[in-house]
Amino acid sequence: MTPLTLMTILAHPDDESFPIGGTLAKAAAEGWRVHLVTATRGEAGIPGKNKAETAVLRETELRRACAELGVQQLTFLDYVDGMLDNIPEGTGAARLLDLMRQSTPDVVITFGPDGISGHPDHLAIHRWTTMAFDQYRQEVKRPLRLYYIAPSEATQQGCGIPPPAEAVGGPVAFIDVGDYLVQKVRATQQHQSQNPPFTGDPESEAQTMSCHELFRLARPQIAANGHSLETELFAAFQKHDKVQRTS
Ligand SMILES: [Zn+2]
Repeated sequence: MTPLTLMTILAHPDDESFPIGGTLAKAAAEGWRVHLVTATRGEAGIPGKNKAETAVLRETELRRACAELGVQQLTFLDYVDGMLDNIPEGTGAARLLDLMRQSTPDVVITFGPDGISGHPDHLAIHRWTTMAFDQYRQEVKRPLRLYYIAPSEATQQGCGIPPPAEAVGGPVAFIDVGDYLVQKVRATQQHQSQNPPFTGDPESEAQTMSCHELFRLARPQIAANGHSLETELFAAFQKHDKVQRTS
């Protein structure tokens, strides 16, 4: 029996911890194998600092964040920060398809078409991942899901209280990460070079945070009114009894 695998594909160190660190920690705690793929070492992320030194520093920060979140596997694509747009989409997608074949994810998470911030690297990763996933899904004969990270302005909902689906509208996965906020703060604080928004002790900072992270289901495509709100960790793969896959 193989544990379910969650593969998250992002562009830079720190793209993971603040947007979706709670979900990664929750998945790991619930028995998923969590694999993070980061395209670059963020070497353009410290203005005025030598890029080689920045890459070393930010890789170290990311490895510490992964340890906080319980991410078991970290893969760098070894691309250069800020340059993803120059790489042919087919080349980037082929790299990701190879990794999907090796890692055999059940769920893949990446940026949505807005790239959260619109950063060109994020948009490139969105396109590559979607392209690779569509090919991978044709090859694998079992249920798979691709989720996009959704904007999080709708997350001001109390811990343990999922909103009615109508109130949320688009997002389909509304993951309560209330039990993992301290880990999320600790992971975010590992990225010291990026001036994390939390400077206090993690327990206190966690009290100020939203309890939810949102995702949109990208594959399989379902009519807008054809799904209900998912409030478990990727509801197609319920925790506990289904966390082991049989194929
Ligand atoms: Zn980024």
